[in-house]
Amino acid sequence: MSRWKGKICRYCRRPLTNPLGSGTTAFTMDHVIPKVHGGRKMVPCCRACNEIKGDMTPDQWSHVMRTVPGWWGLYTTQTLRGMRLFTTLSLKSPTDR
Ligand SMILES: [Zn+2]
Repeated sequence: MSRWKGKICRYCRRPLTNPLGSGTTAFTMDHVIPKVHGGRKMVPCCRACNEIKGDMTPDQWSHVMRTVPGWWGLYTTQTLRGMRLFTTLSLKSPTDR
């Protein structure tokens, strides 16, 4: 029942909190490979990272984590749609250097 206790988010390293709570650190399980790409390998992560990551591939997600400092702080339910748009835009040319 409390498998989230003592765990931290795999991505932002924040301590996870009650999955029934409304906070952005609520415990979730994330598919490292998104369901639309086969849905393999589950890791514990917070609601903010899970929602922002969405259906990104591991490559796209690592790009966001490298280029958007404090990405988890950008998540609220109100800004989620904007965040999706933002990440979509920032991922348009992932191979540009
Ligand atoms: Zn996180």
